[in-house]
Amino acid sequence: MRLDTLGIDPSVSTLFPPEVLRDALSDLPVETVVLDEARSATDSLDGVVTFAYDERFLDTGWIHSVQAGVDRFPRDRLSEANVVLTNSTGIHGDAIGETVAGYVLAFARRLHDHVSNQRRANWSQPEWNEAWTVAGERACVVGLGSLGRGIVDRLTGLGLDVDGVRRTPTPEPGVDRVYTPSELETAVSDARFVVAAVPLTDETSGIIDRAVISAMREDAYLINVARGEVVEQESLVAAIESGDIAGAALDVFETEPLPESSPLWDMNEVIVSPHCGAFTHEYVDHVASIVRESVRRVRAGETPVNTVP
Ligand code: NAD
Repeated sequence: MRLDTLGIDPSVSTLFPPEVLRDALSDLPVETVVLDEARSATDSLDGVVTFAYDERFLDTGWIHSVQAGVDRFPRDRLSEANVVLTNSTGIHGDAIGETVAGYVLAFARRLHDHVSNQRRANWSQPEWNEAWTVAGERACVVGLGSLGRGIVDRLTGLGLDVDGVRRTPTPEPGVDRVYTPSELETAVSDARFVVAAVPLTDETSGIIDRAVISAMREDAYLINVARGEVVEQESLVAAIESGDIAGAALDVFETEPLPESSPLWDMNEVIVSPHCGAFTHEYVDHVASIVRESVRRVRAGETPVNTVP
């Protein structure tokens, strides 16, 4: 693959200003440009770094997604057009791990209640039996990749016991029991926290369905930092409304932004975050490191980092 010019699509501004990435890559031996109205044609570009997909990118040889998930990219069309797709997996474990630890502590220590009471200048202590501590509680992490690893490390650090789910049930450090997806209902059944951290694929779409949610404990919380479609949102809302589970912390939704009409906004035991669980000011540097190494490899005739098969 030839690599002399690299475009940065303005859509990356969801995560950081495109110019900051361009400046971070200024040491590269390729021309790096931020695409704009004037430079919107991609036919003269060899690669593009982007958040969103655009048909025009089929004219380049390489697309790098600044996200880990590539569910929005038409993989068949890209391989027909001989476009190599790479992603940014590997950089989100720390940030997502800390976000998940934050949700867990908020529910146990009732921090979300305090913030909501504070807004109304309401001095209101929890009932004597409302707050709890997380050490010795169990979590089940569905998906033991880069996100899963960051989550396991934080939760075991807080003293939780952790089980996991992945396609091959090979042992994973810090994880007591590793289940396969066909054992999901058993895997979640004794967890106080169930955390979804899988990519969105045909296999994982709706994997946390009504049956899995029903198999959860009544005092359990569902945490979704994967993709909205991994969880059957309607079943989740129904389960929280009827008290079948205790609540949820959700960073991702079937429809984003979450519509104003969603019942999730008003539920006491639900924390809504706007798909920002991986945000950190270092995000741009992490993406730059991946792109820099890929450029080096491509120019040496090797395969770029994180090639999506
Ligand atoms: P990864 O490729 O490192 O790990 C994914 C893991 O899921 C792999 O170990 C894979 O074997 C496993 N898996 C795949 N199908 C499975 C199944 N059916 N059952 C159980 N495990 C299965 O990817 P990652 O960096 O950990 O990211 C995972 C996903 O999380 C991304 O694809 C993306 O959609 C999402 N994500 C969300 C955010 C956010 O901002 N909330 C940030 C980063 C990633």
